[in-house]
Amino acid sequence: MGSCATYGGIPAAAPNPTDSVGVMDVVKGKPLINIPACPANPSNMVGVILHYVLTGTIPELDSLLRPKFAFGYRIHDNCERRAHFDAGEYVEEFGDEGAKNNFCLYKVGCKGPMTFNNCSIIRYNEGVNWPIGVGRGCIGCSEPDFWDKYAYERPMANANIKAPTGGVEKTVDEFGLGLLTVAGIGIGIHAAASAAAGKREDGGEY
Ligand code: SF4
Repeated sequence: MGSCATYGGIPAAAPNPTDSVGVMDVVKGKPLINIPACPANPSNMVGVILHYVLTGTIPELDSLLRPKFAFGYRIHDNCERRAHFDAGEYVEEFGDEGAKNNFCLYKVGCKGPMTFNNCSIIRYNEGVNWPIGVGRGCIGCSEPDFWDKYAYERPMANANIKAPTGGVEKTVDEFGLGLLTVAGIGIGIHAAASAAAGKREDGGEY
């Protein structure tokens, strides 16, 4: 349980002076279940134990021996800030207006798009909060080599994540004005057509 037990964690970060590795790199031929993250979420440990108690089987695991019920989808898939990512609304630097508005943290280094974990759903401390909830991007702590690969405050150069260029939202006033303008034009056309039709019906000016 934890990223140190799973992959060697921070002690295995470059240059890994102690040659730290995860348990699965040492123990062979035994059933293993990894529950990484730093810290690991106790809800996922309880989930594994309950699954075994109730069914007599271990839950389905991914290639890193992580239970899929917890690590089968990305943080980005269920993030509360995802609508801002899709709208192209980002925190550009910590403390700016975007940060005050809880915009997406991708540009200040959030690695949620490449991190498989369920903390965006179950959170920590009995559901009180989680890193992105307090304005700090994900550092990918449930992934192998996270300290070297993900724990810095800028997007990955080779992430191949296409952030939307965004700007889809208008203010309510702008949107309302646009509708009004379109409606006004429609009303004007209708009025002109009615007037012309009226004249014809009246027969006055042909
Ligand atoms: S990049 Fe990070 S903050 Fe933005 S939506 Fe994805 S997981 Fe959430």
